[in-house]
Amino acid sequence: MGKRVVIIGAGAGGASVAAEARRGDSSLSITMIEQRGQVSVAA
Ligand SMILES: Cc1cc2nc3c(=O)[nH]c(=O)nc-3n(C[C@H](O)[C@H](O)[C@H](O)COP(=O)(O)OP(=O)(O)OC[C@H]3O[C@@H](n4cnc5c(N)ncnc54)[C@H](O)[C@@H]3O)c2cc1C
Repeated sequence: MGKRVVIIGAGAGGASVAAEARRGDSSLSITMIEQRGQVSVAA
């Protein structure tokens, strides 16, 4: 089983971490958990 990353919070910080993690290891399984109904709307 490959590495998994779980990110709590899908605001600007969470989305940035997800993107950076994906750039570092394209095989990662990334799960973002957000308490609100939508993820980051930052550009
Ligand atoms: C009114 C306002 C206007 C702004 N306008 C601008 C702007 O024009 N330009 C700009 O660059 N910045 C702006 N900012 C600042 C910008 O919103 C913040 O700097 C940025 O959102 C911070 O990102 P963050 O990921 O650190 O935190 P957040 O955006 O707060 O993201 C954290 C996320 O984690 C989630 N979370 C927290 N606890 C849990 C939990 N236990 N389980 C699941 N999810 C959880 C929250 O729901 C949230 O979605 C503004 C801020 C405010 C308040």
